[in-house]
Amino acid sequence: MILDCAVIGGGPAGLNASLVLGRSRRNTVLFDDNKPRNSVTNESHGFITRDGINPKELRGIASEELDKYPDVEIKRQRVINVTKKDQLFMIETDDEEVYKAKKVVLATGLKEKLPDINRINYFYGISIFSCPFCDGWELRDRPLAVIAENSRAFHMAKVVYNWTNDLIVSTNGSQILSIDEKNVLKKKGIKIYEQKISSLIGDNGYLKNISFEDGTTLSREGGFIVPELEQSSSIGEVLGCEFNNQGAIKTDGIGRTNVEGVFACGDTSIIAPSQLIIAAAEGSKAAIGVNAALVEETF
Ligand SMILES: Cc1cc2nc3c(=O)[nH]c(=O)nc-3n(C[C@H](O)[C@H](O)[C@H](O)COP(=O)(O)OP(=O)(O)OC[C@H]3O[C@@H](n4cnc5c(N)ncnc54)[C@H](O)[C@@H]3O)c2cc1C
Repeated sequence: MILDCAVIGGGPAGLNASLVLGRSRRNTVLFDDNKPRNSVTNESHGFITRDGINPKELRGIASEELDKYPDVEIKRQRVINVTKKDQLFMIETDDEEVYKAKKVVLATGLKEKLPDINRINYFYGISIFSCPFCDGWELRDRPLAVIAENSRAFHMAKVVYNWTNDLIVSTNGSQILSIDEKNVLKKKGIKIYEQKISSLIGDNGYLKNISFEDGTTLSREGGFIVPELEQSSSIGEVLGCEFNNQGAIKTDGIGRTNVEGVFACGDTSIIAPSQLIIAAAEGSKAAIGVNAALVEETF
């Protein structure tokens, strides 16, 4: 059987794309290997009607909603390769199945590389986060740290200051702040720690102290990091999709990439701002794009 569409990635982008495709009576398989970017956190914020929801619960509700649509099937498999032959896509999964589809939606999301700091994974998603719009409210007015080893440290500090003025910046051994940036931060009362962090200290994921290699210890209750981001799948690259300078797959207003028949949505095509509601909306747009292309081909 030839599918109308293969959706690869079952986060909010792929799930919403599948919902709209199912409602458009398009024969769709959604492939997902269940490694979402936000799996480290227990609460998601900022999605109206779902503020504070557990990310797993959000996905669970979405899967139940998709169950209503007979044209949508979910396969809990990783897609390991996609090739285009004539106008059809061959989708190969890690259980050695091959599916054929007329269109492909890439909704594979991003992977994060956290700063190289002892125990950072223990705190990430509980008291240390990467998106102030997602988790700033919960940390408001607390003593916080921006921990960043790259040039986005200054920008992150400016943004986080909106939620607390008890703020420090740690560059963990990097010299990334210019003299002008340092002066602006100092004027706001934001202290800068350029020495390397030796350890993050706290219990159950809740940060209490930051220890530096020079022996300084600082009391902090949470913070924001600036992770390095990369695509969690190379399928877009292998298919020949163009990327923008942030590393996102370039798309138009309805998710079309430069490769005919390949659509992209969610974090895969919008590196920032990355939000569940934006990913879901992009999924909806990509599905409308797929539907429009199929209509044009068959009507
Ligand atoms: C710590 C943290 C907290 C966050 N908190 C919030 C918040 O409170 N509010 C908010 O709006 N946003 C939050 N975000 C951002 C949010 O998680 C992302 O913007 C959102 O998940 C993007 O959705 P997506 O569908 O594009 O990708 P994802 O949710 O990452 O989903 C991609 C899916 O594709 C699958 N996949 C990848 N490659 C393949 C493959 N080859 N085959 C099959 N499946 C594949 C993955 O396993 C994954 O399930 C947070 C992010 C992090 C890291």
